[in-house]
Amino acid sequence: MTGAYFQRGFGLKEEVGPRLQAVKESDYSLRLGDLTFLLAREFGFCYGVERAVEYAYEARNRFPDRLIYLTGEIIHNPHVNQRLREMGIRFLRESDGDGPGLAAVRAEDVVIIPAFGVTVQEMQSLRDRGCVLVDTTCGSVLNVWKNVDRFSASGFTAVIHGKYAHEETRATASRTMRSPGGRYLVVRNLEEADVVCGYIRGQGDRTAFLARLAPACSEGFDPDRHLERVGLANQTTMLSSESLDIQERIRRALADRYGEEDLPQRFRAFDTICSATQDRQDAILALAATTAATRRTSPRWRPARSPASTSRTRRASSLRGASGTDPTAPPKRSRHPTGSPEARSRSGSRPARPPPTTRSARSSRPSRPCGACRWTDRGS
Ligand code: SF4
Repeated sequence: MTGAYFQRGFGLKEEVGPRLQAVKESDYSLRLGDLTFLLAREFGFCYGVERAVEYAYEARNRFPDRLIYLTGEIIHNPHVNQRLREMGIRFLRESDGDGPGLAAVRAEDVVIIPAFGVTVQEMQSLRDRGCVLVDTTCGSVLNVWKNVDRFSASGFTAVIHGKYAHEETRATASRTMRSPGGRYLVVRNLEEADVVCGYIRGQGDRTAFLARLAPACSEGFDPDRHLERVGLANQTTMLSSESLDIQERIRRALADRYGEEDLPQRFRAFDTICSATQDRQDAILALAATTAATRRTSPRWRPARSPASTSRTRRASSLRGASGTDPTAPPKRSRHPTGSPEARSRSGSRPARPPPTTRSARSSRPSRPCGACRWTDRGS
């Protein structure tokens, strides 16, 4: 079989489920001797990564004799990645940038696209090779892409809150290139957002602006023209309060420059933090009071080492004082532009799992379908 494209599973859920279940069962509190481990109610694999890992297992079963590649790490978890390697799945690009790259792929190979997707150019290159594609791009990432597509099609610059080198943000930014004249600018944090705001207000220096942000812009980005109409999106794992703050700062800058009445023609924003990320940020905030008390009473308190998205979640807790209030958080609002009940529905993600062989947890899938992420549309 060559040139096939899978976006759904292979009907092996029954077979694969128990293995994953073994990974998923875990208590939220674990006492070992005089040491107590407290776990947030939501943590670990999000529904998108869980699904991607499932598909990787299923792909191995479905294509036992094929060479199977992942375009990159399916999750920044060394135990999971090692397990996938042990299953014979290879990485086209390792986390350090090494790897054979797309050029190694042959028509008879299978390539798994991770939950955060690949760039438009990479997808085209893979399609051109005629290989079997197992696309696990998460519905919540597709939702961001949909918004960015709309921005580009209507002449708005996509300003993306994220890390410009992150795979998901690279993929999101690449979407703008599908429309003639499409462009993007990635801002990492509030400080960079303020540089953009200053320029919008006419206070910036063009050379300094480009010197700082050129690596995070589309080619030929002209801040004098391309900051006149702006649409906001974000990498789905960013700190949601920061994303909302950036949106608001840029909205105010555009209002200062062009007037409130002109904003509908100049500013668009969609909160595209995914529900799994939001659930984890909410859960860690709920745990913050407990851990603050623990820190006060236990000199042995240590946070676990974790990847960047988890660090952002932990940062959410650090922004919250022991009083349980977050002094930096903007007012709460719906994270979905439509405000529909479906869009507002968020639910249980499951606790995480350490390496598949040691612990497990509950499922992380939303209990109700989210209109934005189309989870149920894409099957499981
Ligand atoms: S968008 Fe959310 S649920 Fe989907 S893969 Fe990313 S973090 Fe996970």
